[in-house]
Amino acid sequence: MSTTDSFVAVAEAHGAPTYHPLPVVVATADGAWMTDVEGRRYLDLLAGYSALNFGHCNRRLIDAAKAQLARVTLTSRAFHHDRFGAFCEQLAALCGMEMVLPMNTGAEAVESAVKTARKWGYRVKGVPALMAKIVVAGNNFHGRTTTIISFSTDPEARADFGPYTPGFEIVPYGDLTAMRAAMTENTVAVLLEPIQGEAGVLVPPAGYLPAVRELTRERGVLFVADEIQSGLGRTGRTFACEHEGVVPDMYVLGKALGGGIVPVSAVVSSAEVLGVFRPGEHGSTFGGNPLACAVALEVIAMLRSGEYQARAAELGDHLHRELRALAGTGRVTGVRGRGLWAGVDIRPDCGTGREVAEKLMDRGVLVKDTHGSTVRIAPPLVIGKEDLDWGLAQLRAVLGR
Ligand code: PLP
Repeated sequence: MSTTDSFVAVAEAHGAPTYHPLPVVVATADGAWMTDVEGRRYLDLLAGYSALNFGHCNRRLIDAAKAQLARVTLTSRAFHHDRFGAFCEQLAALCGMEMVLPMNTGAEAVESAVKTARKWGYRVKGVPALMAKIVVAGNNFHGRTTTIISFSTDPEARADFGPYTPGFEIVPYGDLTAMRAAMTENTVAVLLEPIQGEAGVLVPPAGYLPAVRELTRERGVLFVADEIQSGLGRTGRTFACEHEGVVPDMYVLGKALGGGIVPVSAVVSSAEVLGVFRPGEHGSTFGGNPLACAVALEVIAMLRSGEYQARAAELGDHLHRELRALAGTGRVTGVRGRGLWAGVDIRPDCGTGREVAEKLMDRGVLVKDTHGSTVRIAPPLVIGKEDLDWGLAQLRAVLGR
């Protein structure tokens, strides 16, 4: 049995089978590259589902984490600590907002956004008790908790996990008429991904997000943008909403906020919205801990420079040009995305997304398939152009010229 096989066998014997990873066992990583337990190198074109926007073991982030590890890592929110205020202040400023509710994982932040919107609905909007409704989009992915999968349209994510949480209306993504029809006086929020990541990097029709903004403003409904995957530089801007000139009422952030080092997520909004909470009504033992704040503060500083957004925009243009050329060969039936983020639909007779991912792995490139025939490409934003070109050459080779 190879070293890889033995690691995989132990993982499969003792890890609950909720994932079907590619059979590669990573031991170390640096920038856009990972090395497996047998010394093989792989170009990472997934970047931890965008949690690794700044690359593996980013020096600045590792240094910030190490410095904090030597000071204090956890206080709980029972006490103040000296990184918390700066984290909230600077994250709010990055978002052009006022207040931050820190959590750990993306799903927790989405849950927190749902609770915030409901509480705002009852306390500020005056919705009758237990009547609050939130409008969401079909094919969404917002996480895996019981409430979140209650408004998923993916049978795999939902089956056998009921009973489901009520209070959500699902409308087709990109369909403003359906959204308008779904709204009642009890609607407290619209929750959307400005680009649907897990659905295959689906960009909504131009004008959709501004129209949602207008509609929600008109109806006194909060526009909640889940930018957990799309935000923090990935699309060439700090937020995907910016491409459409839209400012939501609430950002939900995660993934890259923790620099790929620690789970850090947050709901960011106005004082009017997040100010609805009173002590004891919501919280998390690890949310806003000193280590998380120290790493996130460095992430925020890096994003403030605009350097990573510019790089994602420039390399992203190149990526999309190359992928469009590939689409011209007929082996790719669709390419979508923005910045360094693309969903590539493979012609079915060229193999499933999984088969393409396996062939790419054999050539030293790691990607993840989604929904059968789609491969997504989301390299760390620090990837070199030559490395990206090399990765794309492997994709061309796998699909056949
Ligand atoms: N929201 C979006 C848009 C996501 O893409 C994800 C994860 O892929 C989540 C929420 C859930 O984040 P987590 O896996 O950290 O709970």
